Amino acid sequence: MATPEVHHNFIDGAWVPSMSGQTFENRNPANTDDLIGVFQQSTAADVDAAIAAAERAYREWRLVPAPIRAEMLFRAAQMFAARKEEFARDMTREMGKVLNETRGDVQEAIDMTFYMAGEGRRMFGQTVPSELRNKFAMSVRQPLGVCAIITPWNFPMAIPSWKIVPALVCGNTVVFKPSSNTPLSAHNFVKVLIDAGIPKGVVNMVTGDADVGTAMTTDPRVSVVSFTGSTTVGRLVNQAAAPTFKKVHLEMGGKNVVMIMEDANLELAVDGCLWGGFGTSGQRCTAASRVVVHEKVYKPFVDAFVARAKALTVGDGLDPKVEMGPSNSETQLQTVMRYVKIGQDEGAKLVTGGKRLAGGAHAKGFFHEPTIFVDVDPKMRVAREEIFGPVVSIVPCRSLDEAIAIGNGVEYGLSASIYTQDINRAFQAMRDLYTGIFYVNAPTIGAEVHLPFGGTKHTGNGHREAGVAALEVFSEWKSIYIDFSGRLQRAQIDVEQL
Ligand code: NAD
Repeated sequence: MATPEVHHNFIDGAWVPSMSGQTFENRNPANTDDLIGVFQQSTAADVDAAIAAAERAYREWRLVPAPIRAEMLFRAAQMFAARKEEFARDMTREMGKVLNETRGDVQEAIDMTFYMAGEGRRMFGQTVPSELRNKFAMSVRQPLGVCAIITPWNFPMAIPSWKIVPALVCGNTVVFKPSSNTPLSAHNFVKVLIDAGIPKGVVNMVTGDADVGTAMTTDPRVSVVSFTGSTTVGRLVNQAAAPTFKKVHLEMGGKNVVMIMEDANLELAVDGCLWGGFGTSGQRCTAASRVVVHEKVYKPFVDAFVARAKALTVGDGLDPKVEMGPSNSETQLQTVMRYVKIGQDEGAKLVTGGKRLAGGAHAKGFFHEPTIFVDVDPKMRVAREEIFGPVVSIVPCRSLDEAIAIGNGVEYGLSASIYTQDINRAFQAMRDLYTGIFYVNAPTIGAEVHLPFGGTKHTGNGHREAGVAALEVFSEWKSIYIDFSGRLQRAQIDVEQL
């Protein structure tokens, strides 16, 4: 058997092993015999070195003109594009989602990097009139320093790009901890930044688990924490970062709703719910895991949706015939199976799926059948809690108002959608769903990089990523007054009276 490749941390411009001497394995969730590589099981000592390097590099990096910082990012975007297929294949192998989706993941990193690099020549501030004569007033964005970037495994290249690229263009330096389930894509991402010319110490990567994250979120030298992951861990991150008053940006769980009204184009709605519910095996923060359907079209929708879900081909995402890949890990699969049992115990009606796929081509992976519960009561846990797997709960409703109330009746607020032909209904739903993202006649997924991305309630803490909103996370305002009158002018006191 070939020896697996050993990958190192990247600290202060060099690939280095962890001081712990410990490593972990990265295996293919579609076939656990496939050992992808060995990565560093780092500790707080590695984080300490990475933060020190980032702090040193910040002194110079913040002074590099933003358009020059952006030049490096434009080069990086071109390199991502040139290596897209290779990176997508690596990602399917370590994460499981089908190739078309991993190509989309890399494309999102390409789009974000091009978009944010453009900010190097914008990053607009304000110039405003002063209330005093011969005085100039303006505001500029300034970087904050060292940013701790902590990411999950479901978008292994897109999510790091949403955070690292805006952090860099604003003039910050970075310590990056990817999920231990997808370290190869993180590696590929960092390698491109290095090849694009990012100077030493500006980007550092430390692989490992919660203790690595904790070392990052508690260190007083870190100014910003940008975290994407579960709400449970997000709360811990928030608490850990509070004593040192870091700026904390959290993107967390979701329980997104599709509402299907009696006038909907049902064919379109079925297509959307299939993609929204079972794309990425349901492991998207924006997954359409709840579908609320008007009673007048309930039966035809359910019949068509169940038939299509039954026909999905589940298998290794590298096979072009496969439509849905595995769960990302045994733990994730066990969560799915636990929720299937919870749903059944609560009295939800299981109409398709519900079992692990364990025979033949599925024997060595974490596969689960596409699963649908119908006649679900919105109070049931399967209708309220994030499952993060191929499980969709269908809830009947009698009106738009009821659908909206059900849609809003969870603790999350990431994404929602409505299928209707009626503009009045669409606008009412658009206004009344308290989420960060809303779609009309499309499923709950499909965000583009130039608009803000994030959620309300327990999904987020008021920040957004992507779009210009990302600059708010990775920069802060400095207001500047220049008095060219040559005398003391007192604001609010020496103001002229006409
Ligand atoms: P997770 O919360 O288990 O882990 C996320 C990251 O945090 C990982 O890198 C993990 O190692 C790290 N971590 C764990 N404990 C930590 C601690 N105490 N301190 C600091 N870091 C710690 O999440 P996951 O299983 O990797 O990802 C799935 C979750 O991510 C889902 O809940 C999903 O909804 C969410 N997600 C949200 C968005 C969004 O934009 N809202 C996008 C994608 C995924």
